Amino acid sequence: MLDILPKQTPLWRQFETIWQNLAASYGYDEIRLPIIEATSLFKRSIGEVTDIVEKEMFCFQTKEDSESLSLRPEGTAGCVRAGIENSLLRHQIQRLWYMGPMFRHETPQKGRYRQFHQVGVEAFGMDGPDIEAEHILMMARFWKALGIESAIQLQINSIGSAESRKNYRNVLVDYLSKYQSDLDADSQRRLHTNPLRILDSKNPKMADIIANAPLCYEYLDPDSTLHFEKFTDLLTKANIAYTLNPNLVRGLDYYNRTVYEWVTDTLGAQGTVCAGGRYDSLVAQLGADSTPAVGFAMGIERVLLVQEALGVKPTPAMDAYLIHVGATVTDNALSFAEDLRTRCPTLRLILHCGGGDFKQQFKKADKSGARIALILGEQELLNQTIGIKFLREERPQIEMPLTEINQFLMTYLAN
Ligand code: ATP
Ligand code: MG
Repeated sequence: MLDILPKQTPLWRQFETIWQNLAASYGYDEIRLPIIEATSLFKRSIGEVTDIVEKEMFCFQTKEDSESLSLRPEGTAGCVRAGIENSLLRHQIQRLWYMGPMFRHETPQKGRYRQFHQVGVEAFGMDGPDIEAEHILMMARFWKALGIESAIQLQINSIGSAESRKNYRNVLVDYLSKYQSDLDADSQRRLHTNPLRILDSKNPKMADIIANAPLCYEYLDPDSTLHFEKFTDLLTKANIAYTLNPNLVRGLDYYNRTVYEWVTDTLGAQGTVCAGGRYDSLVAQLGADSTPAVGFAMGIERVLLVQEALGVKPTPAMDAYLIHVGATVTDNALSFAEDLRTRCPTLRLILHCGGGDFKQQFKKADKSGARIALILGEQELLNQTIGIKFLREERPQIEMPLTEINQFLMTYLAN
């Protein structure tokens, strides 16, 4: 579980701000959900025979009633639970998003942590491919806003209806059974419990077997085929590039029809930055009226790693550093800084504290990352002026009347 240090938080905050504005611009509302839920909720929704439920959940027993609870490994289950309990879903259209930590007991490595963060989007009450296409367009716009669109590609597939998947499953089990002894232990175990997951295996020893397996979309029911064709038409019309990946089945049980992943090759094995699809049966499975649903989740750490790999820098976190030398000046500096903050409400200003001469204070100003240093000395105080040194550009130091400083800051910092 990682600490997110002050050096990294500007990139996180930039991500969060861009996301919040984007979600609002598509009419999505935020929902905030608990981090702990009943273990049974995840078993019922994600599925017993999945990586998450079999080996990745942090579960614990409460002392009083020995109920099993789990740190949430993902957000969809909790979102649907909250939607049902608070009557948000019945015959209603909802466009929701959430953001926060998720927990999975995995082997930590680059892009894979035990506490990680997701942004999730869930849309309820819409059964057409238009809402799926909206999600794709929204994300395409998001990658662009983050400056990483060149490093991210879309892969799509359809896994059909529960019925068509049953037919396909039989064909797949027949095929895989022929190679039973070549399958790894996980896959042998899954052959009869969750054979589709075998297609998702990253084990290179099984790559050939998987590459030659029968394809799910050849067994789709006619309605799912039509749905998928409409979906790809919408993507094409919107100029969204995609690849069809017939082995993309997603690791969770609740999906049907459209599934997709946004992938990158900048992060090695942890290549999926965002994944989602349709899950029309989950709401009914959790006890409410049947409600169509579609959603996705994006891993924030992985997205930030892509930004880092591409050299995307956050906007500087600090605007100005107030340097002041001389006993009378220092007495005035605190109230001067307060006054500046009142007059320029968006100004990010560090007031130097702890004394020291000009040289020592300039060093601190530079290290703070601020764009400019504001300088107050005895002479300036006497003349009612202030000095401005540009810390990040080749430009001579200037001096101006104190009365003009807030106008200057507003204009300078807006550019
Ligand atoms: P993977 O195949 O990489 O294990 P997954 O299929 O388990 O991913 P999902 O459950 O679909 O992942 O979660 C959606 C997104 O959340 C992933 O695409 C990824 O960006 C992110 N994510 C999942 N697990 C982790 C983790 N342990 N650490 C960091 N990010 C993660
Ligand atoms: Mg996983």
